[in-house]
Amino acid sequence: MSHVFHRTPARTLPRIVAAQGLRMTDADGRTYLDAVSGGAAVSSIGHGDPRITDAITAQLGQVAYAHNGFFTSDAAEELADTLIAGAPEGLSRVIYCSGGSEAIESALKLARQTFVERGQPGKGKVIARRQSYHGATMGALSIGGNVPRKAPYAPMLFDAPLIAPCYPYRDQAEGETLEAYAIRAADALEEQILAEGPETVAAFVAEPVVGATLGCVPAAPGYLKRIREICDRYDVLLVFDEVMCGGGRTGFAFACLEDGGSPDILVIAKGLGGGYQPIGAVLASQAIVDTIVDGSGSLKQGFTYMAHPVACAAALAVQKVIAEDGLVEAAAARGAQLRAGLDAAFGQHPHVGNIRGRGLFQGLEFVADRETKAPFDPSLAFNARLKANAFADGLMVYPMPGTIDGINGDHVVLAPAFVATAADIDEIVERLAVAIDRTV
Ligand code: PLP
Repeated sequence: MSHVFHRTPARTLPRIVAAQGLRMTDADGRTYLDAVSGGAAVSSIGHGDPRITDAITAQLGQVAYAHNGFFTSDAAEELADTLIAGAPEGLSRVIYCSGGSEAIESALKLARQTFVERGQPGKGKVIARRQSYHGATMGALSIGGNVPRKAPYAPMLFDAPLIAPCYPYRDQAEGETLEAYAIRAADALEEQILAEGPETVAAFVAEPVVGATLGCVPAAPGYLKRIREICDRYDVLLVFDEVMCGGGRTGFAFACLEDGGSPDILVIAKGLGGGYQPIGAVLASQAIVDTIVDGSGSLKQGFTYMAHPVACAAALAVQKVIAEDGLVEAAAARGAQLRAGLDAAFGQHPHVGNIRGRGLFQGLEFVADRETKAPFDPSLAFNARLKANAFADGLMVYPMPGTIDGINGDHVVLAPAFVATAADIDEIVERLAVAIDRTV
């Protein structure tokens, strides 16, 4: 019996003992093809890169920990320089933390503090979207739209208005162009801001490419720009959650760069440390920094492990590997191959309703009926069985539970490491086809 309270406490999990590139090995010697970067779009540069081990070891040899109220470190400073150099225009400082949920909490608090310091204490509401997952902590859950993950905690959460997402597969009207749909979807934000009262709204939070709730849905062309205009019109801070889609995964250093998106606050985690250390970060605009520097002069929000030197050293080394090995470009190239492979294998599949994504972040949405788009009955537990069937065959994929507007979210996310070879990509598609056949 395990004394670890696992997510699946009644089940014995295999013990992972080794991992290299896209292959993971358990204690029984079984190997797994990792099509989802460690299981959750984290290990973006693959497993076992010795350059990261060296960087971590060197940092540990120098200093393991120093509280961020006393010291900064070379690793924290250089990592921030690197992130800001590649970030959307206007972002100028980095707040560190230990993961995605902490980063979202930090972003929400930063938005709130900004308006308090600007003398607008009425601005405290956060608007988000029904197709979203922003993390497991109370604030992040409150603004999230992932019903199964959120529902048990409902009485403990704050109210956040959730608008319709940008989800063309289900919401684009007959005869409507994608561009016209994008504008219509974005305008839901304006309606909501007006309904709430602009003087009460602090921020709007969205994933440029939706991850864990009916995943891999990119913003339609023009959507993020329209959202930016609406936020500017009503003095609402725009927060992009790139915890899952950022870090180069879409073939761009930050996913929103592809859309010309320019947030006031940008949240990253997962691929930032590539799984070598837990780390998340919030990038803030110069205007926000100025407000706080010229106002109270202190960030009111912090964690003990903020800017942890070893986590920063690992993430810095990961960023160097991505730059030196051309891995953002590799994510774009291998992503195009993955997409072509999925289109060829499943484009006509009777139970694959939609194939979507960007770069090495691709998803399939499964349906009972391709013509009507009717979802599978939830009692069939399609997602869970697909994951189990794939895993039993040594393939790791990421089907997450999630419903949106009553639609049962049977879908799978593929997010392999950027070091995937062309042969790895072909193998992922072939083995996924076997797992799907076994599940339908
Ligand atoms: N935001 C997004 C878009 C995510 O996908 C996740 C996790 O899946 C989070 C936030 C929360 O990150 P973490 O699990 O590191 O707390």
